[in-house]
Amino acid sequence: MPAPPWPAYSGRMPSLSKHVCILGAGIAGLATAYTLQRQGHQVTLLDRAAPGQGASGGNGAQLSYSYVQPLADPGLWRQLPHLLLAADSPLKLRPRLDPRQWRWALEFLAACNARTSRDTTAQLLALAAESRAGFEAMRADLRPDCDFSARGKLVLYASAAALAAAERQLALQQALGSAPQRIVKPDECARIEPALDACRARIAGAVYTPSECAADCLKVCEALARALEQRGARLLCNTEALGLEVRGGRVVAVRTAQGALAADCFVLALGSGSARLARPLGVRVPVYPLKGYSLTLELGAQAAAGPQVSVTDSARKVVFARIGSRLRVAGMAEIVGHENDIPPARMATLRQATQAVFPQLAGAAELQHWTGMRPATPTGRPLLGRLPGAPEGLLFNTGHGALGFTLAFGSAERLVRMI
Ligand SMILES: Cc1cc2nc3c(=O)[nH]c(=O)nc-3n(C[C@H](O)[C@H](O)[C@H](O)COP(=O)(O)OP(=O)(O)OC[C@H]3O[C@@H](n4cnc5c(N)ncnc54)[C@H](O)[C@@H]3O)c2cc1C
Repeated sequence: MPAPPWPAYSGRMPSLSKHVCILGAGIAGLATAYTLQRQGHQVTLLDRAAPGQGASGGNGAQLSYSYVQPLADPGLWRQLPHLLLAADSPLKLRPRLDPRQWRWALEFLAACNARTSRDTTAQLLALAAESRAGFEAMRADLRPDCDFSARGKLVLYASAAALAAAERQLALQQALGSAPQRIVKPDECARIEPALDACRARIAGAVYTPSECAADCLKVCEALARALEQRGARLLCNTEALGLEVRGGRVVAVRTAQGALAADCFVLALGSGSARLARPLGVRVPVYPLKGYSLTLELGAQAAAGPQVSVTDSARKVVFARIGSRLRVAGMAEIVGHENDIPPARMATLRQATQAVFPQLAGAAELQHWTGMRPATPTGRPLLGRLPGAPEGLLFNTGHGALGFTLAFGSAERLVRMI
């Protein structure tokens, strides 16, 4: 086999440190690489594209540490007919001749019960709290230019019934130790975020979490990649992982078109591509792509009229986050496989949602139309560590669904402890 084009490591590693190869340079892989490097391990990170070009690139930008309600919620059964049939539904299922899609959808429906939803909420809240600490430590270390803000979040509810359900979720989250949150009436909502003044007549109320944050996930990814390289990690972009080589029950190398790359340990963080790479090893990774979209507006002269507080329109399932002079508008969940087209109708839906919540922003320039695949497990809980049937030397850090940015640094900490 010809020698691979990447340089070999030089120098000696401390005896307890390992050479870890991380597959996938999205926020999950980059946070893992960063945390490993801080612990003295040598890191190689590979991605078929540049850092942050998967789901992390144009996501909703919300660091939602305290409002972690899983998508698999018992309330979904009531909404299901509308969600599946309405033309403007934020959820779409396009049935395919793919047993994996059906299995995932059935497991998702099975997870839509009160007990699973409660357990998931508890687990996600604990992980989110660790993640907040990890993200803050990273910010103190790297001082990334990522349009970070900590101005809180308002989740808007259109009806009294929806607000009452939110109040129950809030009580559960508070009992589980989330940061302070409270229900606010429409007038208070508009006092907290004056940009919501025009829509206050159409909402029943909101959940306000003063401590929530926002940031540009792509800029975080790029800052992490730069720091990793400067501190001696190997970053192999445009390098697709084609398969894993197993010898004696242990993963010893990853195959790429440029050659095989050996390491002591491998972390699979390929987002919605994770299941595909693990399948030939006989390992089932219950991750399916949940396609979403985002629209980025440049507020320019309208900057003062735009929101500073993050906002979620729960009825439309659309999130708004301020990142610098831009407004990120994101939403929709489609179970349609790996199709990555951007139908104009989906951008029109995001435009209409913006118009409904922030009519004063009509005419803001559209900077970017984007689609990405949330790597979703049926319950909404990420897969961290060994999976049943997986060979030695292979750990997973994937399946963060709609909260991958929020949960990235806590997941990385937990994974590194396993290594
Ligand atoms: C519309 C939308 C809005 C969202 N909003 C939020 C939000 O507000 N807050 C939040 O916390 N989360 C949000 N999320 C979720 C979050 O973006 C994801 O959970 C997170 O980005 C997943 O990160 P990841 O690193 O696991 O996957 P990715 O970012 O997809 O990274 C996986 C990487 O693996 C690479 N890859 C795949 N296959 C291969 C291969 N064979 N070889 C080499 N490389 C490969 C890809 O190129 C990619 O770079 C949102 C997601 C979407 C789609």
